[in-house]
Amino acid sequence: MSTPTSDMNTPTSEESLLYDACLVDGEWRGADDGRTFAVTDPATGDVIASVPLMSTAETDTAIRAAEAAFGPWRTRTAKDRAAVLSRWAALLLQHREQLARLLTREQGKPLAEARGEIGYAASFLTFYAAEAERIRGEVIPAATRESRIVVLRQPVGVVGCITPWNFPAAMITRKAAPALAAGCTVVMKPAEQTPLSALAIAALGRRAGVPPGVLNVITGDAPSIGRALCDSPAVRLLSFTGSTEVGKLLAAQCVSTVKKLSLELGGNAPFLVFPDADLEAAVDAAVLSKFRHSGQTCVCTNRFLVHEDVYPEFTERFAGRVRKLTVGRGDRQGVDVGPLIDEDGLAKVAAHVADAVAQGAEVLVGGGRHRAGGTFFEPTVLRGVTPEMRVMREETFGPVAAVASFRTEREALELANDSRSGLAGYVFTRDLARAWRVTEELEVGMVGLNTGFLSVETAPFGGVKESGLGREGSHHGIEEFLELKFWHIGGLSSPD
Ligand code: NAD
Repeated sequence: MSTPTSDMNTPTSEESLLYDACLVDGEWRGADDGRTFAVTDPATGDVIASVPLMSTAETDTAIRAAEAAFGPWRTRTAKDRAAVLSRWAALLLQHREQLARLLTREQGKPLAEARGEIGYAASFLTFYAAEAERIRGEVIPAATRESRIVVLRQPVGVVGCITPWNFPAAMITRKAAPALAAGCTVVMKPAEQTPLSALAIAALGRRAGVPPGVLNVITGDAPSIGRALCDSPAVRLLSFTGSTEVGKLLAAQCVSTVKKLSLELGGNAPFLVFPDADLEAAVDAAVLSKFRHSGQTCVCTNRFLVHEDVYPEFTERFAGRVRKLTVGRGDRQGVDVGPLIDEDGLAKVAAHVADAVAQGAEVLVGGGRHRAGGTFFEPTVLRGVTPEMRVMREETFGPVAAVASFRTEREALELANDSRSGLAGYVFTRDLARAWRVTEELEVGMVGLNTGFLSVETAPFGGVKESGLGREGSHHGIEEFLELKFWHIGGLSSPD
């Protein structure tokens, strides 16, 4: 068994969990040239900390550390790796409040949502602690009585992970937990907007007994760190969560080293409301699925498609609820909708609304920057949107609900599937046969039937089409971090 580490060189107050250095080979360190970049609070624009601006050389150092740590880590017993992950989960929960406050400061989401995210992040560590002990092979009958085929499932090796800013804690453990459970070692690059949660979680990992080099976290210049991870033959899997655009670029960059790829990319989720739906439940789910994290989740609804018979009533009730949402800083009591992550995010949301209005959509609620200033945007409902509008074709990633109507189930499915993305979809109906038909026809990886909430650690999260490759979470998710190797055994003697 490993012993929890207590000899870390903590760069700032250990109690605050605010770390402003990177973790490479168990050491807290800065960039080779000492450069840093600022992390700001999106609600106020205040600088929270400055973290290292690392690049190619530091990435190569981290990869070497992960390579050196791989042998010792993979040969630890599964029980031993599981124990480290369990202790890590416990530490996350023990520090839930501090982690949540840090998350809200760097990301902006309401504290209640941040607390929920820390619980979700810990759930991956707990789940994969158990899963570590369930990685097993198989024995297949071979062509002769004297032979057998044995299939081994082995860790892929060093994994490069690149994560987005919208779930600064959960995206770290959704990758690190199955990687470490499988026996892999990791070089993690969190989003530049939200590196502090990742560093704090890594620090707790060290305290839990994650050995030096097994989890390295580097912050800095995304294109050069990404390039170094893709180009390195030592990195055997690139696990990326982020935009489809960057996912495609990284996929192309990985061709020269033929490494495994896991891509969790953007979505454009449809939300279908049929005339037999429980409208109150549909409205509740619509608010949750659209305005949670200010509409900055990959599974959040992008397009509401409502049957014409219930369209006026649904839209009216939904708009009424959206008008009551409270916008403000995430650390304030009673806030439902926080700021957008940055000016670029806000500009995209504003452009989508402007495009829809120019093409004839009607603004029922909101429609512009919020009076709180900064990157706050008003919760918005648009009626009368049509399929050509940007708000329907592209991921808006903000608190803007675009509501269109349909006449038939066939038309609803055609509209829903008219997208290059295929991550999540939501269906509201009380007709069981329709629920099956529509779920089977939807070109997505995940469907919420009569619910606006999808993500749990026990389910295989992921998409089809341009929403990605592979799955994360559940017993399926660990497969990304494993390779199959078969062993053909001959010369087994027959019994006398
Ligand atoms: P992004 O693609 O801009 O950034 C994601 C990560 O990639 C960040 O760490 C960023 O620094 C890094 N990056 C950017 N350019 C890079 C490059 N050239 N080389 C290497 N790395 C690079 O995405 P984002 O704006 O941070 O996140 C929002 C997107 O993520 C949305 O599209 C959302 O749908 C998607 N997302 C998907 C899932 C999922 O599981 N499918 C989950 C969360 C977010």
